[in-house]
Amino acid sequence: MVKILAIANQKGGVGKTTTTMNLGHALAISGKKVLIIDFDSQANLTKCMGIKREDVKNSIATLMNLEIEDEELPAKEDCIVTRNGVDIIASDISLSAIDAKLQQSTIFAEKILSIIIDNFKDEYDYILIDTNPSLGILTINALTVADSVIIPMDTEAMSADGLQGLLKTISKVKKRINRKLEIEGILITMADARTNLYKVVTETVKKSCENHIYVFNTQIPRTVKVGEANLKRMSIIEYNKNSVAAKAYMDLAKELVERNEKKTDC
Ligand code: ADP
Ligand code: MG
Repeated sequence: MVKILAIANQKGGVGKTTTTMNLGHALAISGKKVLIIDFDSQANLTKCMGIKREDVKNSIATLMNLEIEDEELPAKEDCIVTRNGVDIIASDISLSAIDAKLQQSTIFAEKILSIIIDNFKDEYDYILIDTNPSLGILTINALTVADSVIIPMDTEAMSADGLQGLLKTISKVKKRINRKLEIEGILITMADARTNLYKVVTETVKKSCENHIYVFNTQIPRTVKVGEANLKRMSIIEYNKNSVAAKAYMDLAKELVERNEKKTDC
């Protein structure tokens, strides 16, 4: 059965896009069928994967608009671009107009992405949604369709305040719209094991999450290779599969799959 994961944190620059792209690639290498949705109008994921405007027949904004207007969606092959064995629904700046439109008067505005994904989901093992840095209606759409949320955090972002806002939103969505929503786990990104801040914050997060939020054993180390890969429009695994970050994303895929297989066995 498909597992839909929203990659969310309302703070920008914590590694949401990097995680979506590289976890997606790592899962595909592990033999999983993966769909990634770029759900940010900045379209960093689309750009980082080397997808050009002319490669995209229908962006996620176009699909959202068609669904809002209750019009027919295009055929699947006209919505998807494939890179590194991963299917992608691309984004562009016009998603910001959709954000505004959803805030006005659409009936069940939070359900639009869910209806779109219904058309695709049977073919995949994992669907990853890269969200924008806010807790607005687009992120709520992602949380409404998701089975669970991965929360990337860098050591600077690990302030209790930021996390509380996100946890509150997740809890409201779970209560009001999507009962199955869970937190898959907190993923520590850009980890620099040499710094004191890192050690203190990691311990604090682990303690405060004990028993109620899983913190992935895998952490993603900070390395310049990630920035280099982004500049080259490649995943870190494609750019340098022996780098510490590539290995970490492969480990993360393994940890995620193993935990999910255990859950479905129970
Ligand atoms: P978000 O999507 O949360 O805004 P990004 O994934 O775009 O965050 O990452 C923000 C910046 O940090 C990018 O420039 C990216 O290249 C860099 N970055 C992400 N992960 C790492 C890492 N493990 N090591 C070094 N730089 C990283
Ligand atoms: Mg991003």
